[in-house]
Parts: sequence; structure tokens; C-alpha cells
Amino acid sequence: MISIGILDLQGDVSEHFEATIKSLKKMDIESQVLKVKTVSDLSKCDGLIISGGESTVIGKLMDKTGMNQAIIDQNIPILGTCAGMVLLASETDYEQSLLGLINMKVKRNGFGRQKASFEEELEIFGSKYAGVFIRAPYVEELKDGVVLAKLKGKIVAVASGKHIATAFHPELTDDTRIHEYFIKEVLKCVE
Ligand code: GLN
Repeated sequence: MISIGILDLQGDVSEHFEATIKSLKKMDIESQVLKVKTVSDLSKCDGLIISGGESTVIGKLMDKTGMNQAIIDQNIPILGTCAGMVLLASETDYEQSLLGLINMKVKRNGFGRQKASFEEELEIFGSKYAGVFIRAPYVEELKDGVVLAKLKGKIVAVASGKHIATAFHPELTDDTRIHEYFIKEVLKCVE
């Protein structure tokens, strides 16, 4: 039995909640998915998803709730999408609170602001994938890890140790491959 938490401080939490349940069902894994609002909720999790939203706001709330340090200490696999990718980074082009769990430099709003939100096909795990980008960041420099996908020459998905980060929103598509990849990482760590 594994427990996956969705950090519930700000952002598109319910979409990730549904996508994670769907992926776990598809993989036929005994599991539970919970929304994580407190450090005590976090302590029940084997893996954590940090959704899209506003990374400066989520970062401030993580500091306020003590979640920041608790996440680092718990040392479980994390999937960070969009704002979650920013928060996993060690460096951004903006002064903000970060987890620094992936040694990479991320450019916030790298594809432009709201007007620049778009859907574009990219390639991941050897086949096509519909990427949904909303004020998306990209990785300017990955110092430790592997590139999973690029778009227009820019790095938009990475894996580093047990963590995964995507600039796009896998929870807004029917394609469950990113969630499944993450769940496999969680399973490896609980074995
Ligand atoms: N640009 C936002 C940030 O840096 C992320 C946008 C998103 O998560 N859709 O926090």
C-alpha cells in the first residue's frame, strides 16, 4: 500500500488528485491519495506532487507551515509540475523560496506570460505527448539529472535522482505516462 500526497497550499490540486487516482487504478496498485495541508499529512506520504499554481505564493506558504524543511527532511520522491518545477529548483531568475532538490537553474515564465499559454506536441519516453504550457518555466541549466523532454530547444522535463519535474501540466491531459513514471519511482523507494 502506497500513499501519494498532493501538496494542497495553492494551485491546481484537484486535477492532480484525479490524475493520480486514475493512474494508480490503471496500474492496479493498492494505494491512497491524500491532500497535504500540514506537516502531519506529509508524514503519511511515500511520494509528493507539487502542482502548478504560483510558485512564489506556494513557497511563502511552505515557509509559513514549516513544509519546506519537512519536505526536504522526509526525502521522498517528488513530482513537480510548472510552479512545482520552479520550487524543486536550486536556482531561478527571481528572489523566492525554493526547495533546491534538483540541481538546476529554472527560468520562470520562460515562454512568456498568460497570453503565451499554449498546447504543443513534444516527444517523451519515445513517443508523442500533448504538452499543456501555462506561463511555463523551462530549465536553463540542468547540473545533475537527465533530460526527459525538450521543446523548441528548451528543456521542459527532467528526472534527477528520485525526483521528476515538468514545465507542462500532465494533470490537464488524459495521458497518464508522467504520473505512472512518478508512481514507479515511489514504488522503487518503498521496496
Ligand atoms: N509562472 C508560474 C510560477 O512561476 C507557474 C505557472 C503555472 O504553474 N502554471 O509560479
